[in-house]
Amino acid sequence: MKEKVIIVGGGISGLTAGIYAQRSGFDVLILEKCATPGGVSTCWKRKGYMFEGGVHWLNGSGEDLDLHKVWKEVGALQDNNPVYFKDPVYVLKGGKGEISIHRDAARTLEELSAYSPGDKRVLRSIFRDLRMFRYFQSPVEGVTGIWDYIRMFPAICITPRLWMQSITHYLSRIKDPDVRTLLEAVVAPVNNALTFAYTLSSFFNGDSGYPSGGSLRMALNMADTFVKAGGEIRYNTAVEKVVDGGVIVGGDLLKADAVIVTVDARTAIDKLFEKPLEDGWARRMRKLLVTSQTVFVGIGVEADLNNYPKSMVLKVPFKDGGVDLPFFIVSNYARDHYSPEGCTTLSALFPGYTYGWWKAAKEDGSYEAKKEAVAQKVIGILEEQIPEIKGKVAVWDVATPLTYQRYCDTFDGSYMSDWLPRTFTTNAPNRYRKGLYFAGQRTAYSGGLPPAVISGRIAARLLCKDFGLKFKNQ
Ligand SMILES: Cc1cc2nc3c(=O)[nH]c(=O)nc-3n(C[C@H](O)[C@H](O)[C@H](O)COP(=O)(O)OP(=O)(O)OC[C@H]3O[C@@H](n4cnc5c(N)ncnc54)[C@H](O)[C@@H]3O)c2cc1C
Repeated sequence: MKEKVIIVGGGISGLTAGIYAQRSGFDVLILEKCATPGGVSTCWKRKGYMFEGGVHWLNGSGEDLDLHKVWKEVGALQDNNPVYFKDPVYVLKGGKGEISIHRDAARTLEELSAYSPGDKRVLRSIFRDLRMFRYFQSPVEGVTGIWDYIRMFPAICITPRLWMQSITHYLSRIKDPDVRTLLEAVVAPVNNALTFAYTLSSFFNGDSGYPSGGSLRMALNMADTFVKAGGEIRYNTAVEKVVDGGVIVGGDLLKADAVIVTVDARTAIDKLFEKPLEDGWARRMRKLLVTSQTVFVGIGVEADLNNYPKSMVLKVPFKDGGVDLPFFIVSNYARDHYSPEGCTTLSALFPGYTYGWWKAAKEDGSYEAKKEAVAQKVIGILEEQIPEIKGKVAVWDVATPLTYQRYCDTFDGSYMSDWLPRTFTTNAPNRYRKGLYFAGQRTAYSGGLPPAVISGRIAARLLCKDFGLKFKNQ
């Protein structure tokens, strides 16, 4: 008889844990609240236009990276979704001229220095820091070896300095506002400068591409891998409570020898157990957590925007939907065929702690009107920047933090944690006790897809260890 494992949640971390546990000899059932796999890493269709609401860049895209091996192991990357590497990575529009971040660091440095000669020295020092990250990668337990850590040593040496300051502070030495804006667009600037250096250097190091077919194809590939290994997924099935000996669904006990919780840990500690968890780490998490929230605006236009860059940083102030931002990023999916022939899907993200703002709108009955107002404002700005789309908007959709909360029950509708200067993100332990494990966001450093897949793998390894089974990665 195989031991029965129930995984709560079929997001990236839940699918990962399920694949490894099933391969290692457990009988695994994934229970997922939504109708599709992938959790917050997902795409959805409106009137023939597909909106990418998840991955914008995938760490572990580079074939020689340890994380790439993990994405391959879990079947996320297959022949049906080759990764491509957009170049330029970002193009700034709406400034006094046009500047770009290219895949080539030297070319980027040269272009930015020529645009703002007064910033040449500062830019050179920032790019010197970035070079230290040449061999930096997300370490994977059991895969990353001593030699990899040695190669990461230069980056490790400057980590404390970058961790101590925010991205805004780190880039404040740059005088030219256009150059500063372009670089600030790489990661939400409240985070520490370490996240900036890691992310920007990943583009220069041949990482952080985009898998064709996006988040949904990646998640469907993983779900398919899990089912082919013999596992079962039940969609539209929300777990009410995790109890001794299993989980409660629809008032009934589903028995299991072990449970892996991959629901946002901040939600889980308050809602998913018979009593809220009061361990030290859970209390710290309640007190110290800083959530990453965003408002997503998707737009379908009857125009082919193949001649526009894939990612544009629009230096146009945006004040609505609870945010007040000096710029925002627009993704152009013309090359991805996420739309009818000759048309294009666009999307824009507005990061900020807007959960309370939208919740108040929901309570006073103005939620739908406010969503429409945000969409119309974005459309107005885009029509000015991209004249071809004037009067050609076929469809729009807005997802707020309330949307993410409604679908995936993430805390305050967030999708990961922000990582501020001089702080550590507060994580749940991957092993709570024999038979109960956590994976997913807020269980590993730092945020996004890498901790989701890495923590899912760790949870499965710990499970195997506790039950005396050999962990099988293939
Ligand atoms: C707009 C956007 C852009 C992003 N861009 C990137 C990017 O470019 N790169 C990157 O690395 N990351 C990105 N991310 C972040 C990344 O997608 C997430 O951090 C990651 O997918 C989290 O995965 P997870 O498995 O930890 O959590 P989730 O996706 O939250 O998975 C948890 C699952 O549990 C389910 N669930 C919840 N409650 C229950 C219950 N009671 N019973 C059963 N099931 C339940 C949920 O429906 C969900 O499927 C982005 C996220 C968003 C929203």
